[in-house]
Amino acid sequence: MKKIGLLTSGGDCPGLNACIRAVVRTANYYNIEVVAFKRGFKGLIENDYTILDYKSVAGILQKGGTILLTAREPRFKDFNFRKIAYENIQKHNIEALFVIGGNGSFQGAYLLQKDFGLNIIGIPKTIDNDIYGTDYAIGFDTAVNNAMEAIDKIKDTTMSHERIFIVEVMGRDSGFIALEVGVAVGAELTLIPEYPLPLHVIEETILKAKEKGKSFAIIVLAEGVASAKELSELLNERLKDKDVGEIRYQVLGYIQRGGSPSAYDRVMASKFGVFAVEKFVQGEKNFMVAYENGKLLTKPLEISFNKVRIPNLEEYHINNILSM
Ligand code: ATP
Repeated sequence: MKKIGLLTSGGDCPGLNACIRAVVRTANYYNIEVVAFKRGFKGLIENDYTILDYKSVAGILQKGGTILLTAREPRFKDFNFRKIAYENIQKHNIEALFVIGGNGSFQGAYLLQKDFGLNIIGIPKTIDNDIYGTDYAIGFDTAVNNAMEAIDKIKDTTMSHERIFIVEVMGRDSGFIALEVGVAVGAELTLIPEYPLPLHVIEETILKAKEKGKSFAIIVLAEGVASAKELSELLNERLKDKDVGEIRYQVLGYIQRGGSPSAYDRVMASKFGVFAVEKFVQGEKNFMVAYENGKLLTKPLEISFNKVRIPNLEEYHINNILSM
């Protein structure tokens, strides 16, 4: 019986379990056994694994997080530990290692491919949606919905108390979550690292909103731009004589990453998983699953970490018009 390895690595996100389920069930469908390693690359180094079959992935489709657990494993940057990981993989006679991860995980897994010739198959996931080479990564849609729902609630207070609120959303160095959320909540202003706005423009926007008679405003801030605390302190100081009221802030944090995956994430995670295993069955090697212009395709893994994915500013334009 053929065998494949499977792990989840990097930050957790909603949809990982849906993808694990899809990989395991598709593999079983084609009579392939799945050796699943726990806590990402840590499980490879420590040979900590479990065999997953059709039944063991029942009931997880709608669950957040990952049943395989995930971790950041600094030892994997050391060749000697990657060698140990490879030797453990060899013990299982695994023909390919399926890595559900972000570009960091792909970079690490690629080294197993480069140094030892291991067949690596990457399935993109990250709420940040910043993996180069694919329009979509598992987890993004749920994170956007989580942030939107939280901001809708904050907006009630913002409106009732006629306040300006800066809401900091995740995204690390990228602004994909902020851009999408900005449109979804009708933010007065969206701040992303790829399109830095000078402070005076932010001040002018707030003053203009006030002039137009707006009694409240939501500013969506990507964490890669600045901290919401610092920005609110700065703006409160600079606008203190302008009668805009106190500017408050809220950091959404981990609630964006948790919870049950959206329908979109469940479907995408399932499609990615089935596609990855079927391409493996057809003999394709060393690829990552990519989604482009509505189609699934395969791309070399190294594309994902050699370039930076930049958002399309169309959403920025839309929000500028709608927040008038
Ligand atoms: P996310 O973006 O959702 O956090 P990610 O896969 O990008 O996911 P990282 O923390 O960047 O998450 O990477 C996950 C793991 O991949 C690291 O803890 C490390 O074990 C491994 N890794 C990352 N970069 C490298 C590298 N250059 N060489 C070897 N291993 C790496």
